[in-house]
Amino acid sequence: MYDYSNLIDGEWITGEGDAFETLNPARPAEVVGRYSGASARQITVAVQAASAAQRAWRRSTAVERFAAVEAFVTGVLARAEELAVSITREQGKPLAESRGEVAKSCAEARIMAAQAFRSQGDVMPSARPGIRNMVVRRPRGVIAAITPWNFPILTPMRKIVPAIAFGNAVILKPSEFTPSTACILAEVAQALLPRGIVQVVNGKAAAGSHLVRHKEVAGVTFTGSVPTGKAIFAATADTLAELSLELGGKNAAVVNDAGDLGACLDQITGAACMCAGQRCTAISRVLVRRDLYAATLDGLASRFNATVLGDGMNAGTTMGPLVNAAQLAKVDAMVNDAVRDGARVVCGGSPAKIAGCDGGYFYAPTVLADVDPAMRIAREEVFGPVLVVLAFDSIDHALGMLNDVDFGLTSAIFSEQNTVVQRFIDESENGMIHVNHGTIPDNHMPFGGIRNSGVGAYSVGPSAINFFTTEHSVYIKGQ
Ligand code: ADP
Repeated sequence: MYDYSNLIDGEWITGEGDAFETLNPARPAEVVGRYSGASARQITVAVQAASAAQRAWRRSTAVERFAAVEAFVTGVLARAEELAVSITREQGKPLAESRGEVAKSCAEARIMAAQAFRSQGDVMPSARPGIRNMVVRRPRGVIAAITPWNFPILTPMRKIVPAIAFGNAVILKPSEFTPSTACILAEVAQALLPRGIVQVVNGKAAAGSHLVRHKEVAGVTFTGSVPTGKAIFAATADTLAELSLELGGKNAAVVNDAGDLGACLDQITGAACMCAGQRCTAISRVLVRRDLYAATLDGLASRFNATVLGDGMNAGTTMGPLVNAAQLAKVDAMVNDAVRDGARVVCGGSPAKIAGCDGGYFYAPTVLADVDPAMRIAREEVFGPVLVVLAFDSIDHALGMLNDVDFGLTSAIFSEQNTVVQRFIDESENGMIHVNHGTIPDNHMPFGGIRNSGVGAYSVGPSAINFFTTEHSVYIKGQ
């Protein structure tokens, strides 16, 4: 049983806010964690402590910070198995996926630490004789990080590590459904980093809202749903804090002329079903050339039907439950609405009962055919193991359907035709574009989206510096 409060200014402080529990989504009768949430007053204390700590931290050298981040990542890896178990127990994903998430979060962290160690400015030409012009970067200040439940370590690490590597202090408010992992990270930070540089406050929406509104917060990095992203955008209008919002997706794979359709469907299945489809980068639409439609449906159904649903802690489980009852109800309602409107269930299509997992939030991996692009299931994020398959007659038709959604996160095309591929690269309205493979991103590449999928600098990659630092033009006149 996890039992955590809040890491504020180097100490674990019992919350004055609401207490809450987390449940094992595979067996919801089992309480996994108890947390005492931080009050608005305590969040203010945390922000003040962060400001004070950051004033000292920003004076440390990049070499010192690089060493501190390396020690922190090593400390995280020393608890890798415990962290992976905490992810599976609260989030539900198979333990192998949780282990992979821990490893990826640390690999990304090391690359971001190296990124913060690279040259960070410019020497510019001058307009006036005797004056040298430079552009320098400084740490932004206090960063508020708000994270969701689908990646309980990856998303917090993606925010904590660049924040501190670039000389900021960070306050993390993890999801109320999966806080244990973030609290273990807080223990590692408490042991290895100067006090106040990394703090963790627990709570629900109200705690996040207090944190992002605080006037001493200079930057807000958020990953989560579009409505909450918009609420944070509006809330920060008052403080004009810098924003980096990573929101949802309605990601599509376009299958035009896959040389090896089987290999293509393997990748689509992985991208659709990992984390039970609860990933912002999950593929949730397949747009397929009409002559490949029937073979695609057959191939997807046989792959989806091979899924082993179960408790993520059991060896052999390939898909865990959805994270909570609300998510299960939402996925079920969206599929039912689609079927009512004429979609055909190729496989799955309902919640699933699993022996030994009473009341678990399982949903059978689902493929839907005969879907109209106007249906809600073809336009809105499902966040479940549900794939809709639509046929196209030309690449214009495919690109039209691809871009006719509000999101713009990631996309893939399978084609051996150069002209088709070139058009996709130019016209896919997404932050990430993959050709002839699934949507798995590299650890060092910019990660983010356009349109309703995100605002501000992408996380990880070279451009993240634009969020984590401020820019200053310097003019130096010799005496
Ligand atoms: P989901 O968890 O379904 O992605 P959200 O986007 O609402 O949904 O949640 C992501 C994170 O945002 C969670 O940590 C949640 O507590 C937090 N949160 C929710 N509402 C707000 C808000 N108005 N301001 C700040 N944080 C919020």
